[in-house]
Amino acid sequence: MLHQTKGRITRDNGAAIDALKKRALEWDVPLTEEAKGFCFHVWNSKATLIPDEMGVSIEISSPEQRLLQTLQGSLTELFEECLLCPKWDEVAEGALAPGMSLMQVVAVTKRSEGFTRVRLEGHDAERFGTGSYHFRLLIPRKGRPPCWPRIAASGRTVWPEGDDALNRPCYTTVAYGENWLEFDIFRHDGSPTSDWAAEEPVGRTVGIIGPGGGACPENDNLVLFGDETAMPAIIRMLQEAPGNVRAFLQVRREDLCELAADARVSLVEDMGKALEEAEIADGAYVWFAGHADKAKAARAHLIARGVAKKDFTAAAYWS
Ligand SMILES: Cc1cc2nc3c(=O)[nH]c(=O)nc-3n(C[C@H](O)[C@H](O)[C@H](O)COP(=O)(O)OP(=O)(O)OC[C@H]3O[C@@H](n4cnc5c(N)ncnc54)[C@H](O)[C@@H]3O)c2cc1C
Repeated sequence: MLHQTKGRITRDNGAAIDALKKRALEWDVPLTEEAKGFCFHVWNSKATLIPDEMGVSIEISSPEQRLLQTLQGSLTELFEECLLCPKWDEVAEGALAPGMSLMQVVAVTKRSEGFTRVRLEGHDAERFGTGSYHFRLLIPRKGRPPCWPRIAASGRTVWPEGDDALNRPCYTTVAYGENWLEFDIFRHDGSPTSDWAAEEPVGRTVGIIGPGGGACPENDNLVLFGDETAMPAIIRMLQEAPGNVRAFLQVRREDLCELAADARVSLVEDMGKALEEAEIADGAYVWFAGHADKAKAARAHLIARGVAKKDFTAAAYWS
């Protein structure tokens, strides 16, 4: 089923289409010119801008309501920056931010020296286990009542600010079932999320928003490199990859948990060095995630080695 909505900008000096062209370049997403108008393709969704003498009509279509609302909010923000205020036929004013769900914390368990596993329950938890692996965890500041991001009358999502601002780090769904999901927090110094987990938050409500950020690459030959923050994603890929997988993990031995018994996993001291030394067969897919500097170096190394951009991911998981 395709979800659709329409909007209108009642004056046009070319600014709306110029802004859309600029955004397509910045985001490196396609902007095509069709008979009807200019089409912007992102998040599996499409926005078409149709100019006429009186202004610009906007049509958005998407396979998911949350993606439709995300694109609607994003376009509203973009056009408002150019002092153009789109009027939409429908806005879910007051609804939680697109893709956001409220969940109850039902268990917090120490898995190893470095990892804490958190189990959440909520009616649509399973949504976070299918498709993309990742979500943002939304935690209110200590001592503050929750104030969640909501859709405003304009179509934009308004995020709480100041004392009500939320901590919103990314995590990976590592296990899921009917109405529940689990994720692993790597405990490190100065981490507000680790401090929150140490407070035994069982019974509290948190927000999660997503899913997004990719899943298991579709390739029969995967070579994976990651640190502790990437380990949950690597656990998922080792479970789901249909073909040959090798994983190089830069973690402490005691934090390997169930991966210690997996012959496909090697413990390494430096994942950057491991990447440089690894044999990578033609057509294999390389996935690398960790500190931003290491991801940048990995990207440069893979390009220099002649690996095509379509054949690798080098992602910054923290900085
Ligand atoms: C797509 C994606 C998926 C991710 N999945 C997971 C996951 O499943 N589990 C997980 O634990 N992390 C995961 N991460 C990493 C996580 O989002 C970051 O580590 C994040 O900074 C944690 O937020 P925080 O509240 O602990 O700390 P922040 O407030 O973001 O940072 C506080 C301080 O901690 C430092 N810091 C952040 N990460 C680390 C680290 N790993 N080691 C040492 N210092 C650090 C920062 O530099 C900063 O100084 C993921 C990141 C991405 C982008």
